[in-house]
Amino acid sequence: MGIPSTNNGLESSNGKIKEQYTLRVKLNLSSFLPTMQQMLSEWSSKSTEEPFHTFPVVSVAQEKEALTWLQSLDKKTILHWYGNSYIVPSTFNHQYNSMLWLQEYSTLPWTQWDNFPQWLKAGRLITIPMTCSCRSNLKTYVCKHAIGLMMHFGCNIVKDPVKLQNFQKRRGRPRKVGNALSGV
Ligand SMILES: [Zn+2]
Repeated sequence: MGIPSTNNGLESSNGKIKEQYTLRVKLNLSSFLPTMQQMLSEWSSKSTEEPFHTFPVVSVAQEKEALTWLQSLDKKTILHWYGNSYIVPSTFNHQYNSMLWLQEYSTLPWTQWDNFPQWLKAGRLITIPMTCSCRSNLKTYVCKHAIGLMMHFGCNIVKDPVKLQNFQKRRGRPRKVGNALSGV
């Protein structure tokens, strides 16, 4: 407690320096300077070879899992809320339909704590391309719901950002689900 650990950015870099360059030995300045030069050179070229990720990497296994989920999903339950946001009931939910889930999202009617997690697990709020309210997505930024819904809308090459931009820009395409307030 109170001391930065490896989840702190500075301590994380310090850990890498000790582990990969100085090998946990306190070097003299004369030997540390060339080590530092090598280190910076390697870090610099690495940042060019491996650019900063602006989109999560999706594995083939995750795409397969998403496809399985999509195939078992009753498409009539997909509710368009607004923009790129959709509500989908979860697989083990028997109490909520998408509309009721959305209503409770707005009105927060729970009077006991237990009612809240029940509601939370009963539906998924998915914003395409890649955001979802499920636990997996909150931890890893990837989940079968978001990928699956992208597949449903014909945008399944999730590794291709150009496709995603096209999806967001697309206008006038026939809509596969109704609006939230249309009562569908
Ligand atoms: Zn999800």
